Amino acid sequence: MVEHLEYKRRKEGEGELYTRLSVDEGKSEEMLESLLPKLFILSTIKLQFPSHNTERGGTRVKFQKAKVVIDGELYTVNVITGNALRNWLARLTLREYVARNGVSVHKQHFIDMYRISGKLARECGISDKTPREEAERIVVSGCAICDLFGFLLKERGLPEVGRKSVIYVSFLIPTRASIIRNIRQAITHNERLTIYAFKSLIDLGGIGRSQYVKKEGVWLGKELISKDEAQLRLEACLRAYLDLLTHPLGASLVRTLPPIKVKTLAVLLTKNLIPAPLHPFYDDYIESLKEIVEFYKDDIVNVYLLNIDIGTDEKVKTYSNLSNLFKDVITDAKAILEKLWS
Ligand SMILES: [Zn+2]
Repeated sequence: MVEHLEYKRRKEGEGELYTRLSVDEGKSEEMLESLLPKLFILSTIKLQFPSHNTERGGTRVKFQKAKVVIDGELYTVNVITGNALRNWLARLTLREYVARNGVSVHKQHFIDMYRISGKLARECGISDKTPREEAERIVVSGCAICDLFGFLLKERGLPEVGRKSVIYVSFLIPTRASIIRNIRQAITHNERLTIYAFKSLIDLGGIGRSQYVKKEGVWLGKELISKDEAQLRLEACLRAYLDLLTHPLGASLVRTLPPIKVKTLAVLLTKNLIPAPLHPFYDDYIESLKEIVEFYKDDIVNVYLLNIDIGTDEKVKTYSNLSNLFKDVITDAKAILEKLWS
């Protein structure tokens, strides 16, 4: 099933979209406070590239085709898959992590981002006698990339152990408005400017924590790394987003991307579960964002906005500069981790 279904508008109506999620009835509100923090990143960007030929300065944009439904009509559009974006993010995260003197990483990722081989696992001390939970601890504590982006070890003679990514990235897909505009204008220009949108989620409560063993008394997984290491991994990952959004051509790792200009960006830092904001594919994503911020004010730490106006509030911070925005997001998100580890 193509991922565009994910973008399908949830049924209109406040009941469904804005029902307050009830979490773990056995625990008091107080205990749950700040236990399930998330970071949502929503953005629309301009990508400039020739329409007939994706060649540009020797680099190549690899798009895949996806189908979207607009007003009952089916259209085929160019997308970059969430997997490809995640792969770029992983590479940039690796670079930022090492640049900040991070040392816990499998050398293998410098060559091949995803594979965890049986050979590597054995070198790390995992054998057929290692319990799954211990194998998880060895891999996660030993590697920032496996921790953040997940892994799967499935080899004969070794415990089967896997980890879901704590970072989710949607397709990079042209916005609905952009698709409509391109259809109306027919394609007469050599160079088309298309607005793309993506949505991403970082499960802050998942970083450096077990997906098999729960920490006692709370919903979080058991800690597998130190607080400082978790904060370093988070910072590297957030800086990777900034790299992806600001220096796609400067970074040889992401040469395949055409020039990017961020049009709008919204980062939501929450201390608890809230419904996912609408994908920026939709014209009214900012309206939706505004409603979520109003309805879930208590669950939101801060909202960080670039070129988006949703009115003034002490929790709404607006920026004209991406670096400053990410600087504040990093500081506040690290403070959340600080609380989770205390
Ligand atoms: Zn690894």
